[in-house]
Amino acid sequence: MKSFVESANSADTDFPLANLPFGVFRRGEADAPRVGVAIGDRVLDLEACREAGQLAALDEQTEAACGAPDLNELMEVGDMPALRRVLQDLLGEHSTSKPELHEMRNVELLLPARIGDYTDFYASIHHATNVGSMFRPDNPLLPNYKWMPIGYHGRASSIVVSGTPVKRPSGQTRDDANQRPVFGPTTRLDYELELGVFIGRGNRLGEPIPVGKALEHAFGFCLVNDWSARDIQTWEYQPLGPFLAKSFATSVSPWVVTREALEPFRTKSVERDPAELPHLQDDVAYDITVEVWLQSAAMNEPIRVSRGNFRDMYWTVAQLIAHHASNGCNLRPGDLLASGTISGPGKDARGCLLELTWRGTEPLELPGGETRKFLEDGDEVILRAYCEREGLRVGFGECRGRVAG
Ligand code: MN
Repeated sequence: MKSFVESANSADTDFPLANLPFGVFRRGEADAPRVGVAIGDRVLDLEACREAGQLAALDEQTEAACGAPDLNELMEVGDMPALRRVLQDLLGEHSTSKPELHEMRNVELLLPARIGDYTDFYASIHHATNVGSMFRPDNPLLPNYKWMPIGYHGRASSIVVSGTPVKRPSGQTRDDANQRPVFGPTTRLDYELELGVFIGRGNRLGEPIPVGKALEHAFGFCLVNDWSARDIQTWEYQPLGPFLAKSFATSVSPWVVTREALEPFRTKSVERDPAELPHLQDDVAYDITVEVWLQSAAMNEPIRVSRGNFRDMYWTVAQLIAHHASNGCNLRPGDLLASGTISGPGKDARGCLLELTWRGTEPLELPGGETRKFLEDGDEVILRAYCEREGLRVGFGECRGRVAG
């Protein structure tokens, strides 16, 4: 499948014709946000396509949703297989009506959706075991871990798009159990490498989503950096879970890779032992390589500090959705469900500094002689993800954030 957009045919692009991720952009500060699609190093302008009549073959609702200022409407009512077919024709090498494109570097990428609710899970058993063993060496996994996906309600208002600087938060910490706690800037700022799922069609309050239908409610996927202040977290998290240690900022990538684009990369999930309860039975995983890159203020280019795979997660995407709605809780279009830190079995697949440096006891060595236990001001964290199979590559682009003092 080739495109007339040359950069979309290069072997290392994240955005070939087979991907077509959706996002929201504007051409300048005075411009209203519009829906766009990434193709190579360009952005297809769906509002312009609509005005030019290039989307007329679609049903009315889908066509109208392409003219909205965010993706929520498309998430709710869009006929995505049909829209993808129309866009692949428009952008294909034999396209007869060439649509309007912008250079990606010339537009501002915005948050892709109005995110009403944000939930963060804890679906990597490697992450849960590593973190658990630091605090409870003899009993790392709590008794509920293998029976249901553990999660907490996050803060939607502080979700920011890739590229937004992240201000080092202040909070209350206590290092010494015999002293009074202190209030001040965190000294243990961390990232968490995660993938997020944007909910498409929702469910009505009181009507759970059967696990066999759960993936139909997943519109698409993005990268998520769940920034975490470990010292604040340690002091505040019992008994009700993370609060201010997480709610100061969460970064997401601007492009949402649709479920349809990830179809070729479906694979079988890990086996769960003991087997899950019937209402959570599922075995669909996705083969997605995930990476963390880090660049300090003194470095000229980033280095990769870890690499893992989303297929190593203990709980599947369908299980996260079905569990979330199993009590009748209503999920709505644009809600974001994040996976939890994606760590693998290997040491190089640990998705946060807490694990990678083992609570700061094994500092990370950076080129130029610097070391890191946790993040310093000026450090930029870059998350990347991509799928690759038989010459086909579907990527997520990047999720960046620099720590500001
Ligand atoms: Mn997290």
